[in-house]
Amino acid sequence: MAEQQEPALPRHPPGFPVPAHLADWLGPLDWVDDSGPYLEGDLICPCGAWWFEFLYPGKTHKVEGWPEPVYPCEVQVPGQPGEYNYVFGVDAVCVACRRQVGVIDSKNSGRCWLGTKPNPRALDRSGSVPWKCSACGSLPHRGRIHYRLLEQEDFLEEFDGVCGIERWGDGFHWIGFTVIQCYACGHRVKNWTGHECD
Ligand SMILES: [Zn+2]
Ligand SMILES: [Zn+2]
Repeated sequence: MAEQQEPALPRHPPGFPVPAHLADWLGPLDWVDDSGPYLEGDLICPCGAWWFEFLYPGKTHKVEGWPEPVYPCEVQVPGQPGEYNYVFGVDAVCVACRRQVGVIDSKNSGRCWLGTKPNPRALDRSGSVPWKCSACGSLPHRGRIHYRLLEQEDFLEEFDGVCGIERWGDGFHWIGFTVIQCYACGHRVKNWTGHECD
């Protein structure tokens, strides 16, 4: 008898609020109610690998009182005068299979862009360089992601006529990295970077 190909199981139950762009890239999620729904999980490539190069716009800044020498920050791009022309993005490139995912895109993802036409990607407009471990200079890291959602009823009210509850996970108002960890030396950077989408 011919063996039947089992369909791949989805990573998360149907209806679970996961941002669509990360649906195949997040492991099991912890769901905490912390001033509204707050979900957190490890970034895992569809191939099963956990190690990534993290691309960011290349600009950094010091954060007073924080332990790392510098952190990624948003960057100015050409645009209309009077407009807010700062963008921020983070992509992850799997070290094992080189698949790439846009984790943060300040011009497309989150609450403020839900239901609008796609814009040119922030990271494509701002250039991208891989993050180097501040302790040893290595590129591969693993990362843990979190995002904050509106309460379900607030989401339905705000996006009435735009979409239904199936896109709840795309209406996050914050997405960020809880921690990244260097593959080579184990150095950890808590709250590496994030983006508010209000
Ligand atoms: Zn992979
Ligand atoms: Zn390192």
